[in-house]
Amino acid sequence: MQKKAIKGVANAAKKIGKNIKTTKGKIIYAVVLVVVALAALLIGSKLGYWENPFSDIFGTKQTSAANACSVHYIDVGQGDCELVECDGKYMLIDAGENGFETVVINYLKSHKIEVLDYVVASHQHSDHIGGLSEVLEAFEVKNIIMPRLTKVQIPTNSTYSDFTKAVKASGAKVIEAKVGATYELGSGEFEILGPVTNDAEDINNMSVVMRFDYGENSFLFTGDAETEEENEILETDANLDCDVLKVGHHGSSSSSGKKFLDAVTPEICVILCGKDNSYGHPHKEITKRLKKYTDETYRTDVCGSIVISSNGKDLTVDYENK
Ligand SMILES: [Zn+2]
Repeated sequence: MQKKAIKGVANAAKKIGKNIKTTKGKIIYAVVLVVVALAALLIGSKLGYWENPFSDIFGTKQTSAANACSVHYIDVGQGDCELVECDGKYMLIDAGENGFETVVINYLKSHKIEVLDYVVASHQHSDHIGGLSEVLEAFEVKNIIMPRLTKVQIPTNSTYSDFTKAVKASGAKVIEAKVGATYELGSGEFEILGPVTNDAEDINNMSVVMRFDYGENSFLFTGDAETEEENEILETDANLDCDVLKVGHHGSSSSSGKKFLDAVTPEICVILCGKDNSYGHPHKEITKRLKKYTDETYRTDVCGSIVISSNGKDLTVDYENK
């Protein structure tokens, strides 16, 4: 039907061109040709013969760049730092130890980031919040998510007091990490899964644990949660099944319990740890345990910064030291 219509209009245009030899006639002929060409392009694109060249203008074209997400596991030595990027929105989880702030700030600036929609302070240990004070000063930060600590849990060191000052000065909205709360990041969504209780003796077990979902892909962030917190989360019946696991507590044997890993069933694991760190992270029994689930475990002490990208269906892994 549409093919016939194109043929009909083209024939009419030919007739006009043959019969009219005047300047006016030539102009009409040219206009008709342009109209025919435009009609052919639009009908052709509808029929799927070629891509609609005007779709960008009308905002109907979905480019992969505008519809993509990536998680950066930034190498900050013996500490944690992850950046989630989704449709031009950004979430930073931790910023490594004191002294790594420049690494983090430069990394974010090299990605042309000016605004952080969410900053998550997984818990108040210096290898997670040490670099955050300067990051909060260097970027516009909209929201800060962190666990609420009881008086006895609050650290008394200068790292923590610098951090709280920077949080206040940032003007960001401070959000207490509450289980079940969900937040949008572009077309992705993250959900807080832990901490379940607020009276842990070790503040590792106050770590904000959360999953991020983008299309069919999912990423789990665990901070330094140890088996106590993992078991509490398991009791909540939260959906822990994820594609990519940020292995808890730098690969320490105090985390990544078998039951927890059975629930996560990771396809890819990422361990953030420093080269020849004094803790011996990752512990051998954990790297051995992870092998039961996947052969794909990446470590920042070996790979440098690691980037896992998603198009909503498939994952691509890239890293610094190849
Ligand atoms: Zn840590």
